[in-house]
Amino acid sequence: MINPSGLVAKPFNFHYNRNMNQEAMVTLIRRRGVSDTRVLDAMLRVPRHEFVPYAQRACAYDDHPLPIGEQQTISQPYIVALMTEMLALQPGEKVLELGTGSGYQAAILADMGLDVYTVERIPELYETARARLETLAYSVHCKLGDGHEGWAEFAPYTGIIATAAATEVPPALIEQLADGGRLVIPVGPPHGYQVLWKFIKQGEYLERFNLGGVAFVPFVHDTT
Ligand code: SAH
Repeated sequence: MINPSGLVAKPFNFHYNRNMNQEAMVTLIRRRGVSDTRVLDAMLRVPRHEFVPYAQRACAYDDHPLPIGEQQTISQPYIVALMTEMLALQPGEKVLELGTGSGYQAAILADMGLDVYTVERIPELYETARARLETLAYSVHCKLGDGHEGWAEFAPYTGIIATAAATEVPPALIEQLADGGRLVIPVGPPHGYQVLWKFIKQGEYLERFNLGGVAFVPFVHDTT
């Protein structure tokens, strides 16, 4: 399209440069200590701007959470990277995510070649994320339901990741974790001080590691 000045008009989305911003985002994540190149490469590839509302696209690659509707948020990119790295998964392994939200975390896991299962409790978010993942050709198994139950049908999982804060670790998630598997989950009161925990299942025992303080939306328990 030619405008009156004779210059070629810029595309409507010229105000952000996806690749430059995406690279800057990953550089920041690397500087903050995430070193797994498979995680960093996935974050360079997956188009985060496709997972945020149109109004938020210009800041899709800034390192902070963004609203995705229904009073929920897409997590901060650094936290997505940290949690994914902590799962320490190999391509082909099975991973369960609780709290699909926008589908971004699930897309990162799928991009890394994992067999991804994800559960969301809000029908509108479930439907939008499922359609989005399909359109973008990410192979992810989506389910509408309460993540406190996990997804028993496909258990055990080598990795389980909860992207909402639970008041305590749901027993079903421990049960559905493979021996030697990792569970990464924020635990703490809704809107209060929460700790990001990594648990490793060792037979009857759970080894646990405190990964630091975080702020997640609540992992809602519909029976309470
Ligand atoms: N991983 C998401 C961010 C999730 S925000 C992303 O990449 O965009 C947390 C999500 O957890 C919200 O969508 C919220 O609806 C969902 N959630 C909260 N409680 C839940 C529950 N009990 N079961 C399943 N999903 C839940």
